Amino acid sequence: MNACVDQLTCIGCGMCPGIAPEVFQMGGSGKAEAFAPATAENKDSVQEAIDSCPVSAISWQA
Ligand code: SF4
Repeated sequence: MNACVDQLTCIGCGMCPGIAPEVFQMGGSGKAEAFAPATAENKDSVQEAIDSCPVSAISWQA
C-alpha cells in the first residue's frame, strides 16, 4: 500500500517523517512527501502518522 500526502493541505509540521521516516520525508517545498511504499513492517507507523497529522493531509492510496 502507498500513502499519499496532499500537498495543498500539508502545513509542513514535520511530524510524519518523525513517526515513519521509512516512508515520509520533507520535500524541498517544505511539505512532506511519501517517498517509499508502506510495508508490512511499517504500516502501523504509517497509520499512526495518518492519525497524528494535524490537518489530515495523509491518506492511503488504493
Ligand atoms: S504530519 Fe501532516 S501536516 Fe505534518 S508534515 Fe506530515 S503531512 Fe504535513
